[in-house]
Amino acid sequence: MKELYDIAVIGAGPSGSLCSMLTARAGLSTLLLEEHEAPGQFINCTGIIGAEAFRRLELPTEPILSSLQTITFYAPSGKSFRYDPGQPLAHVVSRLQFDQTLAGWAQEAGATLRTGYHARLLRVDSDAVELRQREDDPDPIRARAVVIATGFGSNLAQQAGLAGPREIVYGAQAEVEMDNLRDVEIYLGRAVAPEAFAWVVPLQPGIARVGLVAAKEAPVHFRKLLLHPSIAPRIRTAQPKMLLSPVPTEPIERSYTDRVLVVGEAAGQVKTTTQGGIYYGMLCAAMAAETLREAAQSDNFSAEALAPYEQAWTSAISQELKMGLSLRQLFARLSDNQIDALVELGTRDDIISLVKRLAQFDWHRDLIQTSLNLPALQEVVRGGLW
Ligand SMILES: Cc1cc2nc3c(=O)[nH]c(=O)nc-3n(C[C@H](O)[C@H](O)[C@H](O)COP(=O)(O)OP(=O)(O)OC[C@H]3O[C@@H](n4cnc5c(N)ncnc54)[C@H](O)[C@@H]3O)c2cc1C
Repeated sequence: MKELYDIAVIGAGPSGSLCSMLTARAGLSTLLLEEHEAPGQFINCTGIIGAEAFRRLELPTEPILSSLQTITFYAPSGKSFRYDPGQPLAHVVSRLQFDQTLAGWAQEAGATLRTGYHARLLRVDSDAVELRQREDDPDPIRARAVVIATGFGSNLAQQAGLAGPREIVYGAQAEVEMDNLRDVEIYLGRAVAPEAFAWVVPLQPGIARVGLVAAKEAPVHFRKLLLHPSIAPRIRTAQPKMLLSPVPTEPIERSYTDRVLVVGEAAGQVKTTTQGGIYYGMLCAAMAAETLREAAQSDNFSAEALAPYEQAWTSAISQELKMGLSLRQLFARLSDNQIDALVELGTRDDIISLVKRLAQFDWHRDLIQTSLNLPALQEVVRGGLW
């Protein structure tokens, strides 16, 4: 008789590995599947993770390459202002090392990691879920429940009868050799990153990740970004190698069904302000593991038994996601003049102290709500929102 795992987790990214570690620790036989030969390969990500995530999830610190101490914002006019929160807000990791460490932790907890396995077919039966690499796969994998943690792009959730993310944007980024790196740099304006933002994130002396988020034509905007007068003269890499990846901008409608949960970016558990997905994905992955632990105790992996997962994660992050989306939609309508005025506002002492009081790297709702009620800000965005 073929082995029946309690849990098969598809995708050894941060969400899948954390979920596997926790289900294995709970005593469930767990198989973690990764399509590449090793976790963390071919990932397009800046690797910024808030300091809170390191504390709350006890994340590994060895993969940290640099810390995000100060941010310089560049307005469309070329003016800039430097924000110094007085403490490190976040850290920048090597995703290769981060993902491999987490997958290692899952193995240490008892999960089996199988690399080079690309799950393409998923079938939910009455007593198990079956996974195959192809139709005539002689060696299907069977598990009592499956966690889809593939990031964006697989259609496994759809095969289980769930809808995929509806809206996406694109992240375009390259790692480059670059001079005069000090702060994280954020570039705003319709000519640089219409409707979103662009960044330079130092990794180590002389090396940075340069990229942007755009709803369309991201490669075109990326090429223009490299010509920006504050960036072009400092780049030493002759032909930066751009990677392009889609990122969902809202969560999927439903993240569970009989014997199946969807976690992380595959479920659209991504910050709607910045498109950062590592922390929210991992938080939700921990909730998925807890629901699976309880389902295993009652030997019931029905949709009804798995529903608490969705209740848990929506109550944790869905208000944040909604508020962030509203802000993005407002920001997308602002002209360069309005963005200039906003950046100017950011230099005011009362605004800086408000930001210092309310801003948290991963939780933006309080700051957004309070800011939108400020008469000075309403004045600037009038015409964009109201
Ligand atoms: C340019 C860019 C910059 C970004 N910067 C940041 C940032 O600074 N901070 C941040 O928090 N987020 C950032 N993000 C988003 C972040 O990368 C993702 O949200 C995050 O990686 C999601 O984690 P995950 O575990 O859900 O999925 P992933 O990290 O995508 O991991 C999924 C894993 O599943 C594997 N897999 C996929 N399909 C299959 C299959 N069918 N069978 C087996 N294995 C499979 C993949 O190989 C991968 O290892 C960025 C995104 C982009 C595009």
